[in-house]
Amino acid sequence: MTEEKKYFYGPVPSRRLGLSYGVDIVPFKVCTLDCIYCQLGKATDLTVERREYGPIGPILSELKEILAKGLKTDFITIAGSGEPTLNSQLGELIDGIKKITDIPVAILTNGTLFYKEDVRADCAKADVVMPSLDAGDAETFRKVNRPHRDINIENLISGLSTFRDEFVGQIWLEVFFIEGLNTDSVQIAKIRNAIERIRPDKIQLNTAVRPTVEPNIMRLDNEMLQAIAVQLGPKCEVVADFSVTHYGKFPENKANDVLSMLKRRPCSLDDISSGLGIGRNEAIKYIRNLQNQGLIHAEHKDGIIFFKAN
Ligand code: SF4
Repeated sequence: MTEEKKYFYGPVPSRRLGLSYGVDIVPFKVCTLDCIYCQLGKATDLTVERREYGPIGPILSELKEILAKGLKTDFITIAGSGEPTLNSQLGELIDGIKKITDIPVAILTNGTLFYKEDVRADCAKADVVMPSLDAGDAETFRKVNRPHRDINIENLISGLSTFRDEFVGQIWLEVFFIEGLNTDSVQIAKIRNAIERIRPDKIQLNTAVRPTVEPNIMRLDNEMLQAIAVQLGPKCEVVADFSVTHYGKFPENKANDVLSMLKRRPCSLDDISSGLGIGRNEAIKYIRNLQNQGLIHAEHKDGIIFFKAN
């Protein structure tokens, strides 16, 4: 799978999913949150409003073409350079995917909109739903996730809890830990209480192993995460990738263009996007892939993330 694709990317190896074939369904950094650990930069559109983001027919046509050539992947993963449940055609898209393939569908979501019945109904069409929970109370939620004013932690937890009552598929909850922010024993106890209400099938622990939008985000080491995993119970596993040894197959030519550009000078996402005449969504996929291969890294300067070749 080396040909260039408009909507899909990968398959890429994922510690959480095996081989994952991704599709982004919201524009860059359209999100309900503005997490301090986000790798994508500052939120460009902080919103809770679900919208259509273009027809889904072309997405399904592209998938059909790829399937006809023989796609090998463990999951089709609906993600986004933002929050995918903000796309109001999510359910229609999953229905369309299910009509043309038996490959299981996973959704990566921040979980904030599950208090809405239509979001729960759409997500219930997937096989695996992978929400996030990084705080056990409102204050920590504000500090870590910097939500839209209409989003609150109680709605997040009760929304996911209601979804659990309704959904027969798998829920794999990710908890992202940042040293000094959500790692003290009180916070861990509150997170554990929230997990008991949500009743996920798996709890997957992560930390800031990659460059984040805000500087000074302190990651935990593997031993600290393992110690928290013990406190959160037997369904808990550490998924943080401390080795950074993923090698995904990708549109090599464009990825090479990005790499050559970064070998000449550090560039922001906008520099890469305008310099190569590609969308920001597309640029971020090449950046992620090059980061996963350990070929580039990110540095902060005056609130902007610059990418540099290693
Ligand atoms: S939910 Fe995801 S995309 Fe949105 S700000 Fe947080 S990390 Fe970034």
